[in-house]
Amino acid sequence: MSTSLKNLLHRNLALLIVVSGVLGSLFVYRTTGYWEDEQLRRHVAKEADVLSSRIEDRLETIRKEAHILATTLARRPDIGAEEFDEFAGLVMKHHPMLYGIAWAPRRIVQGQPHFPVARVLLPGDIVPPLGFDITSESRRAAAITWAIESGEAVITREVKLQPNGTRGVVLIQPVFAAGRPTHTIAERQASVVGILAVGIDTQAYFDQVMRPQWGRFDFVVRDTPGEEVLYVHAVRPDSAQVPTIDAIEQAATMHRSEVRAVDHPWVIRAAPAPGILMEHPRERPALSLLLSLLLVIATILIARLLKRGRANLENLVAQKTVALRSSEERFRDLFELSADWFWEMDADLRFSYFSGGSSRGMDKFIGLRRWELPIELPPEQWAVHKMVLEARQPFRDFEYSISSVDGTRLWYAISGKPLFDGSRFVGYRGTGRDITSRKALEEELREHRDNLKELVAAQTAGLLRAKEAAEQANQSKSEFLTNMSHELRTPMHAVLSFARIGHLKADIAPPDKLRGYFEHIRASGERMLELVNDLLDLSKLEAGRMQYSMHRMDLRRCVREVVAELAALFETKKLACTIVVNATDCHMMGDPKRIDQILRNLLGNAIKFTPEGRRIEIEIADCAIPSGRRAGDSSHLLPGLRLTVADEGIGIPEAELDDVFEKFTQSSRTNTGAGGTGLGLAICSEMTRAHRGIIRARNRPDGGAAIDIFLPALGESP
Ligand code: ADP
Repeated sequence: MSTSLKNLLHRNLALLIVVSGVLGSLFVYRTTGYWEDEQLRRHVAKEADVLSSRIEDRLETIRKEAHILATTLARRPDIGAEEFDEFAGLVMKHHPMLYGIAWAPRRIVQGQPHFPVARVLLPGDIVPPLGFDITSESRRAAAITWAIESGEAVITREVKLQPNGTRGVVLIQPVFAAGRPTHTIAERQASVVGILAVGIDTQAYFDQVMRPQWGRFDFVVRDTPGEEVLYVHAVRPDSAQVPTIDAIEQAATMHRSEVRAVDHPWVIRAAPAPGILMEHPRERPALSLLLSLLLVIATILIARLLKRGRANLENLVAQKTVALRSSEERFRDLFELSADWFWEMDADLRFSYFSGGSSRGMDKFIGLRRWELPIELPPEQWAVHKMVLEARQPFRDFEYSISSVDGTRLWYAISGKPLFDGSRFVGYRGTGRDITSRKALEEELREHRDNLKELVAAQTAGLLRAKEAAEQANQSKSEFLTNMSHELRTPMHAVLSFARIGHLKADIAPPDKLRGYFEHIRASGERMLELVNDLLDLSKLEAGRMQYSMHRMDLRRCVREVVAELAALFETKKLACTIVVNATDCHMMGDPKRIDQILRNLLGNAIKFTPEGRRIEIEIADCAIPSGRRAGDSSHLLPGLRLTVADEGIGIPEAELDDVFEKFTQSSRTNTGAGGTGLGLAICSEMTRAHRGIIRARNRPDGGAAIDIFLPALGESP
């Protein structure tokens, strides 16, 4: 139905209901009318049928009685008048509506049969038409011919029964000679002796028969051949109009029936008259019309209510539709703008929808299953996912990756829930998320964590080393304290012992002896002073308060002076000391006092750790010092002097070559009682650094240790 037609119907609903209601009412009215008419028609039919059989019965009785009379006349054609009147009178008495009965024996005149009336019985004072040839009138003649030929009684069409106008029909009964054959027409024509004619006054006849129904029905009786009206009956009260023949015959509830008038039918039409109509009042149509109209009014009211309800409903639906549309648009925008998307699968687990499918290039996946996509996932993970789908279970954050066209790896996380129509599984619906950036972050984080682990491990190792170093330092300090107390106590004991002896023997001991005692006291005091100086130097170095007086100095001269200073010690241990100079110029920037102190320390150690009779060599040589601060940075070299003190002593374990420069540290080879504080080389190292120089220890290939000091000749900062 087109929309405009719908609108038209919708707008004119009330009018439509009124029109259809009125039409419906009329229909009901008409239908009810027809139904009542049908009832009436049936009633009319029933009564008309009763009437028909009454007419037939009466005619049949007349025919039978005529036949009996004919049998008598067959035997006695010349019956006397009295006798005839007696017999005919009996018949006339039974049937008062008969006009008269006549007997017309056959006479042959000029070879032609004639039937002149010989006997006749008529009511009242009518002159008997004796000698009247009843074949003189065509209708009668035709009926006589037919009656003779058929051998049976027949009834004429309506004829004048008498000249004054009484009309009726005549029952013609042929009378054949008794004992003569009447099988064929010829035999009947030959043996006919006369005609018995029974005149029936149709008006009187039908009045008589139909009287019981007068007032209840209007009647029209017609003779079938020619449709001549034989009888009409219709009466009304004075004021009312009597219906015409047409009105009776065309009445809606008229009933038509046929009666057998001896040999041919009469048609009787009976229409209900006021009498019977009063028995069938037409109330129902009016009642049904009233009910229908009430129904229409009720329907209109209901329709109005429904219309109002429908308007409200439409309003609500419109509001909801707007809300739904905006919500749908919101979700669509959300999905199109966000990196997430929405998907659907059918019951066969094939993709049937992607939100923004074309813009995301996902339309090509429609109809495929997820595992038919170019996804990189181990088979066992697919198996687990398929099991979840087969079990129609929801799933969350199922992750996989796809290699994009440019080779980058894209990661996605998918969530979904199964859909059911009642208990029937119809597919899956869910969301997808691009988690590539999250995966990249996770990867970065993992790398950082690994790096951090390495860093922590490295720092832990460093800390362990620092701890070990601290423990080592602690141990060194303990050893230092032990050594220190030993180193201090030994000269102190010597001082106190020789002082006590000197005091006791001051008067008795010879002067040389006493001088010896004082000499011991002085040596021990110097030893103690040296220790205390070392400690003071160290504390100054640690506090950064050591004063340097840098100026140009001659290293060779410095070496010679210190060697001369220590000559007695070399002598004591019978050590040879050589000075080798391989430098073109032994001048340099430095503090001679500190350089002397360094040399004294180095030579002191060399003397201490070298067995008697061996050799100590001091070398001054040219060298190049890297200017870079970082180790191995030899891009820029500065000119310098190398001062090496090499001995033939016990040497230093290779692993401890660096450690001996730490404070309070002695090599494992000498810390078991060789004396010393472990401060000398530490002081040397600090002082060398103050001169922007480098100090290092090594073992000589043929035994003994060597300490090299590299000093920049110009005192520049390397
Ligand atoms: P100390 O007062 O103990 O000599 P140093 O700092 O001068 O302290 O020396 C540290 C340690 O280095 C010494 O105890 C010794 O074990 C080792 N050492 C130094 N010089 C030599 C050397 N010429 N031969 C062998 N070992 C040496």
